[in-house]
Amino acid sequence: DLYLNPTYSFDNYIEGDCNRLARSAGMAVAQRPGVTSFNPLLIYGGVGLGKTHLVQAIGNHIKGHHHDKFVLYVSSEKFTNQFINAIKSNTLQDFTDFYMKVDALILDDVQFLSGKEKTQDTFFHIFNHLHQSGRQIIMTSDRRPSELQGLQDRLLSRFKWGLTADLQQPDFETRIAIIQRKLQAEGIYIEYSVIEYIAHSVNTNVRELEGVIISLMAQASLVRRDIDLDLAKVVMKNIVTAEDREVNIDTIQEIVSDYYDVSIADLKGKSRKKELVYPRQVAMYFAKELTDLSLKSIGYHFGGRDHSTVIHAIQTISDLMEQDDSVKDAVQKIRSTFS
Ligand code: ADP
Ligand code: MG
Repeated sequence: DLYLNPTYSFDNYIEGDCNRLARSAGMAVAQRPGVTSFNPLLIYGGVGLGKTHLVQAIGNHIKGHHHDKFVLYVSSEKFTNQFINAIKSNTLQDFTDFYMKVDALILDDVQFLSGKEKTQDTFFHIFNHLHQSGRQIIMTSDRRPSELQGLQDRLLSRFKWGLTADLQQPDFETRIAIIQRKLQAEGIYIEYSVIEYIAHSVNTNVRELEGVIISLMAQASLVRRDIDLDLAKVVMKNIVTAEDREVNIDTIQEIVSDYYDVSIADLKGKSRKKELVYPRQVAMYFAKELTDLSLKSIGYHFGGRDHSTVIHAIQTISDLMEQDDSVKDAVQKIRSTFS
């Protein structure tokens, strides 16, 4: 009951090739906790692939169907902190007694116990007690047990008593289903081609996929229009460039000064010579395009100029690019060195 979040269920956990074994093992454990041979059940997989959701769904299912059972979900971090506090306040016995009363123990992100010997000792005793008395243990980890460094061998060997199942990156069909499910839950309809576009563009993990959908909904309500392909493209572009925006102002100044063979000091300096003003304006133009800096702070990085100078620089370069192909080429060449 404790720490379970009722919003995570099997109903809203989309099944796909990427999670089929883990999901069905989780379902079996949820229906018959402590009875199957999947004890412990260890789910592993990278960040954002649905470990917490799945084990929470197991916990909620047990709680909903076996009212007499005491279900406890706890992150390994919280478990460790509780343990430390119990030592400090001399209540270690209460701590272990409490955990030994649990019917289904869900310990999330067990890799967090790495190197924490005392915490592992205590968990080992709790584990043994629970396992011997037919109680269910469910754990998650961000990597497979054989790669869990800093965990005691006696613990790792016990993890192998049950079933280990992994979660993989969601495949295309699963991503489609997850997007549809999410939109349905929000009561939003968008065209299938747009859903496909999103599923093609985001193929890392489910958390990121959800982030994109949230941005899309936010953007759509901001500009008061429906989510269509154009809007999706704009949002995706912003998300991608926001991540690529590791370019900082120093790099921009270096590259531009190299390209035009002027010094960085000159870029920041006071001279109004044409040979210097133009590269300076190009550098400011890129500072605006490639960083998140405000006009004011861009000006600050160019010898303390004010924001109207920066606006003027950006405008000048934009105009020149339209009028003069050589300027356009130069800007494109410089831009390509940033990516
Ligand atoms: P992890 O614990 O592996 O880092 P989470 O369980 O927190 O990942 O999942 C990240 C987000 O993705 C959560 O909002 C979760 O609800 C969602 N999610 C993950 N897998 C699925 C799935 N198969 N179906 C629906 N939502 C999912
Ligand atoms: Mg998690």
